[in-house]
Amino acid sequence: MSFGRIGAGLAVLATATGLLLSGCATTGVNKGDINLISVDQEIQMGRDFAAQIAKTYPLLKDEGINAYFQRLGEQIAKQSDWPDLQYHFQVVNTADVNAFAIPGGWVYIHRGLIERADNLSEVACVVGHEIGHVVARHGTELMTKQYGIALVTQLILGQNPALWEKIAAQLFTTAGVLHYSRKHELEADRLGIRYAYRAGYDPNGMVTFFEKLQALQKHEPSLIEVWFSTHPPTSERIKQAEKLIAELPAKPGLKKDEPSFHAIQKKLKALPKAKTLQEIQKEKEAKEGK
Ligand SMILES: [Zn+2]
Repeated sequence: MSFGRIGAGLAVLATATGLLLSGCATTGVNKGDINLISVDQEIQMGRDFAAQIAKTYPLLKDEGINAYFQRLGEQIAKQSDWPDLQYHFQVVNTADVNAFAIPGGWVYIHRGLIERADNLSEVACVVGHEIGHVVARHGTELMTKQYGIALVTQLILGQNPALWEKIAAQLFTTAGVLHYSRKHELEADRLGIRYAYRAGYDPNGMVTFFEKLQALQKHEPSLIEVWFSTHPPTSERIKQAEKLIAELPAKPGLKKDEPSFHAIQKKLKALPKAKTLQEIQKEKEAKEGK
């Protein structure tokens, strides 16, 4: 984050809105980074953003499946550095092998990722990674950087619903907003491995999932287009993950899989085939005559 922008932002914030400044995250993570948005504001922002996503995205309407991932997510989030936040986990009904988080505890897992995972530990590690983005408050940090504090403040105050719509729509495309930096991604990986491990899941799921992504990149790149537009090279992440996992104390009984996960996969595979976000976007553009 550029300090010049923060300086200007501070002035705008102090003079124009009079909002209270919160120095930095209170989650214990990213203590050195500056985040001008308070935790309460971030939670409010997450709610507004989630409402936009519900309008923009084809969310899966299956209570049983969503409840399964809500349980899994909460179990992992409880082991995070922000355990008392109310988290929401939802499945997006598209073929993309991807997941994303928005500020305030909202995590979205694309159906393609669940269908393509070899075992539960892979999904648990990805969910841990997304919880890592939430806990480290990467979303608000990034939005402040991208839009400037003045616009972000308007968002928080509910003064700019059109911008919310724009942001939600941009998330959809490869020009999406939440382009986390390499530093963010590596940090979310570190946190995700730790949280999944603490929750009792085999952290090697992170490595095998990354290897799967590398294979998909070669053979079915359209499924991971969104992923690779928003995530840094995988080889570096594998290296970091392997190193971290080797340093973790041995823990007997770490869970790699469970039959109920495969029952969920079976249920998903029986549904009408999902499209990718890009296919949906293209169809929408064709309809609108763009
Ligand atoms: Zn990420």
